[in-house]
Parts: sequence; C-alpha cells; structure tokens
Amino acid sequence: MIYPCKPHKNPEHNMSISRRDFLKKTTLSAGAFTLLSGMKVHGMEAIHPKGWKGRQRVSEIASICEMCFWRCGILGNVDKHGKLLKIDGNPEHPLTEGRLCARGNAGHKLAYDPDRLKYPLMRVGKRGEGKFKRVSWDEALDFFAKKLLEIREKHGAEAVGFFPHGIQARFFEHLMKGFGTPNIVEPAFAQCRGPRDVGYKLTFGNNVGSPEPLDFENTKMMVFIGTHIGENVFTGQNLQFANALERGAKLIVVDPRFSIAAQKADYWLPLKPGTDTALL
Ligand code: SF4
Repeated sequence: MIYPCKPHKNPEHNMSISRRDFLKKTTLSAGAFTLLSGMKVHGMEAIHPKGWKGRQRVSEIASICEMCFWRCGILGNVDKHGKLLKIDGNPEHPLTEGRLCARGNAGHKLAYDPDRLKYPLMRVGKRGEGKFKRVSWDEALDFFAKKLLEIREKHGAEAVGFFPHGIQARFFEHLMKGFGTPNIVEPAFAQCRGPRDVGYKLTFGNNVGSPEPLDFENTKMMVFIGTHIGENVFTGQNLQFANALERGAKLIVVDPRFSIAAQKADYWLPLKPGTDTALL
C-alpha cells in the first residue's frame, strides 16, 4: 500500500512547510541529518568572529575532511602552537558550500584521540594478549618484506591474499601485483557501490561517479529507491535535496522504514524488505 503523506490530517505534518518549519522539523527528527551543521546561527559571529576561537587567535587552514570518503571542504582552526581546535565547513568549497555532517565536525577529536595509532606497533605477546612494542617504520617494513618473501619462497605468491578497501589501498594493490599474487579481492565493493557502478555502466555506458550527477536543481519529481538521503550521504546532496523540496519538487520514497526522507515525502511506499526487485 502506498501512503500519501501530503496533505496530512494533522496540519503539523502538512508538507506545505516553510523553510523555517522544515529546518525545525529536521532538527527535531534527526540529530544525524547532516544538512544543519553549516547553517549560520545568528549571534555566533559575535562570540566566535572569523579568525578567533573564544579569546584565542586562530588561523584557518583549508583542507578536506578525512572522516569519510566524501572529502567535504573544511577549515581547520589552528592556534599559534599548531594545535587544531575546531573544524568548520569551508564556504568556498564548490560542492559542500560550508556544510559538514556531525562526524566531520568531530574530526579534531580523531586527531587527538589517545587511542589513535600514530606509529607502527609490533606484537610481542601471544595473539590476542594485547602486548605490543613500538618500532620504527624501517623495522616494520623490513619485517613485513621478510615475511612476504618467506611465504612466497615456501608456498608461492598466490598463497597471499589481499583485501583492499578505499583509495589508500590502491598503492598496496600495485605492490601485491608486483609481488605476483592474483588474489586481490574487494568484498566491500560487492556489498557497497559495486552493483550500483556496474549496473549503471551496463545500462548507460559510462561511469556514474561519486557523488552521482543528479539534477536536483531542475527536477520536478524525486523517486528514492534504495537510498536514504538525509541520513548518511554527502552533505552537498543533502543541501540540494532540501533546496529541491523547498522549490516544490514532489517526493516518492520506497523504503520499509519511515526514514528521514520518507517523513518528507508526498508518497511513502513501505515495501517488504527484499521485494525491491519484484516492485521494479
Ligand atoms: S560527509 Fe561528513 S564525514 Fe564525510 S567527508 Fe563530509 S563532513 Fe566528513
């Protein structure tokens, strides 16, 4: 059954909402809705004017967020001792325009996390015992190379399997190819964006890319199947999505859950999990 979400009997839920109401509702319904973090909060300028954090002078250093693969544009607020105090969205970034999600805003906590691994550690106790000693990069790399060569000598190069994930792993992929193993597999690709990338290429003949080139600016109707914008996607897309809703674009959401997007939909189709293909 398709549930028409608009107009709702309860005027509170009517989708004809102003931008102010929309923002208020998203704040209440989703702490994780990433759209909000880059919003200008009136009065904040007086407390933290540009170049200051509290009473401290800071420099703003432009970079990219490393908390996930979207790489939103950031401004690191760094004090005179070089300490990162805070991360803001970079308003000059062409896609994210100053927006960061909650995770991105917390990026400086990762930089100073006491458990952050900053140098190689070698296990000295039994496996699982949790005993390690700090070693130099030369020691770690020599140990790694020696072990790999021993395995190749004894069992052949194909005895080593490599499971890469992410851009950084590409460098090791070249190393593994040079080493001679054909066993390079990426299960995360098959579970994550692989079907999307391969399906798109087979259907349209080109790569879909990330983020997908969606025409939020001009669309009159958005249909979401297998996506839940507003919960964990690119901050720039959240902004485009919110702008499209504000412009009056219709929204149909196919999702078993009453997701953030479903809450804002004109029609919500809560299909049974696993029946997407039957629907299509
Ligand atoms: S979506 Fe969030 S975590 Fe990912 S890069 Fe952007 S701000 Fe960082």
